[in-house]
Amino acid sequence: MNRNRRVKILATLGPASNNPEMIFKLASAGADVFRINMSHASHDVMRGTVAAIRGVEEQLGFPIGILVDIQGPKHRLGVFEKGEIDVQPGHVITLDSDPKPGNTERVHLPHRDILDAMQIGHRMLVNDGKVELRVIETGDGWARAEVVSGTWLADKKGVNLPDSELASGALTEKDRKDLDAALQEEIDWVALSFIQRPDDLAEARKVCRGRVGLMAKIEKPQAMQRLDEIIENSDAVMVARGDLGVEMPLELVPSMQKKMIRKCRKAGRPVVVATQMLESMINAPVPTRAEVSDVANAVYEGADAIMLSAESAAGDYPLEAVSTMNSIAEAIESDKGYLDTIASQRPEPEPTGSDAISYAASEIADTLGLAGIVCFTASGSTGLRAARARPAKPILALSPVPKTARRLALVWGTQCVITPDAGDLDDMVDKACRAAYREELARPGDRIIISAGVPLRTPGSTNMLRIAYIGSDGQGSIHRSTD
Ligand code: PEP
Repeated sequence: MNRNRRVKILATLGPASNNPEMIFKLASAGADVFRINMSHASHDVMRGTVAAIRGVEEQLGFPIGILVDIQGPKHRLGVFEKGEIDVQPGHVITLDSDPKPGNTERVHLPHRDILDAMQIGHRMLVNDGKVELRVIETGDGWARAEVVSGTWLADKKGVNLPDSELASGALTEKDRKDLDAALQEEIDWVALSFIQRPDDLAEARKVCRGRVGLMAKIEKPQAMQRLDEIIENSDAVMVARGDLGVEMPLELVPSMQKKMIRKCRKAGRPVVVATQMLESMINAPVPTRAEVSDVANAVYEGADAIMLSAESAAGDYPLEAVSTMNSIAEAIESDKGYLDTIASQRPEPEPTGSDAISYAASEIADTLGLAGIVCFTASGSTGLRAARARPAKPILALSPVPKTARRLALVWGTQCVITPDAGDLDDMVDKACRAAYREELARPGDRIIISAGVPLRTPGSTNMLRIAYIGSDGQGSIHRSTD
């Protein structure tokens, strides 16, 4: 599947789209990776969705990535006797550990760790920040807070605590069960919500044991403060603008997005921009101009992937949302200024064989006007470093490991093909030429550049570049020669 763009599209599946027919349509229209959100999906739904995606993958014949998003410690209020209460600025309410239904004076907060972490002056944001409370007094198992803004509290509304660092890790009991269930399936990425520190990733890594890539969702100020360490300890990052915009001032989200993309590109970690990208398309077949600009901006910033949430999971126009995102990305990337913008933000190569080879491949491909870069990658690391160089020419990543090819579906500019392992160097060049021809990266007479690690199958040994011609006997069979 030869997409006409480098940025990848990550589409969340839900009631509007988690059936084989719609998944087929979405993947055909441009979705490269699908997300299953465990805040909403049961284990049965998750399993059914994974099976449906793998069925579509077989039909379409190209690797599709699957990301399972773990809910994390999303906190909620308990319930009220009447389901809701009216409040106004100055209203004082106690939050406590008593599960009895609440009233205008008190309400249950079923998270002891929050009650322990809250200090006088800390903010509590309820219902996506529509109500702001400020703690004025604390005690053993309770906190008293004053309403600063907002007029209404109701059963089970979400609670964000931007000022409090919680002692608990990123995985709740529900998360552990969800993770165990997801790891039984053929999935490629797990996203961790509300992480605060690098240790949260270490905790998940122990459970996952290398079976999936770990994506850190950045949505808390505590995670922003330790961004470098979190990026270092993750396999990918999501700019989770929904909760980030609740926990931090909304007007800071764009600069935080830029900072995260810049740091991830430098570290060679795939980075996804998420939430409200085409929000109005939940109910309308066309986006707003501002949404088009938002998607375009993420593409110009060189993000690896752009994500649809409710637009593709629960909206009225899931297919239109994917097609629109695809069209915007294609249009932006065909702008003459696009590649210059991407190149101007390119991080310096690190002093490793892998980076030297990747950057050299990019330069040579430009200088000689080659059709593309073909890299052999077993673990995916050569593919990731090739993408880090953000070359102007397309990257074709060949891997004998289906998991690697699927994981790379998230990565900027990388088209992945599952190819049997090459026996020797000649076989490798032959396989590269055939794949480049078959995938319509190159035509007979074109040249490609091949990067690989020799000896073959040695992870992290990228050390070889080879230029090869694509030949043809006129019947579609490929011959090759090298110079
Ligand atoms: C977000 O908050 O932006 C996000 C992607 O997380 P979720 O959809 O799980 O709320």
